[in-house]
Amino acid sequence: MNRVESEDISYLSSLLSTLTKRVVRTVPKKIPMRQCLGCREMKPKMELIRVVRSPEGKVSLDFKGKLPGRGAYLCPNPDCLKKARKARALERAFSAQMPDEVWSGLEEQMKEVPTDG
Ligand SMILES: [Zn+2]
Repeated sequence: MNRVESEDISYLSSLLSTLTKRVVRTVPKKIPMRQCLGCREMKPKMELIRVVRSPEGKVSLDFKGKLPGRGAYLCPNPDCLKKARKARALERAFSAQMPDEVWSGLEEQMKEVPTDG
């Protein structure tokens, strides 16, 4: 007598499992995206270099993304650094002056980026 009910339940549970699978499949893995100050493209944070202004006001490239301070992001590409410099993007991001030696220091650090594609 309970045959129909049990079929309903198995139907529901298979429907539920299908729905669950579908949800898992369609929800993309959350990748934190950041905008490059140079080319203005949104890219995964992992692919960008963090530029950080420390509480003491020192600006440097933060390859590990761990330095304290205010951060901005750049592609590991000297062209993006140049564009950011031209557009005064870092000055705006940090609301601070960026002396020439800071930019040349960043350019030097940019050269140290490992180029593996
Ligand atoms: Zn860029």
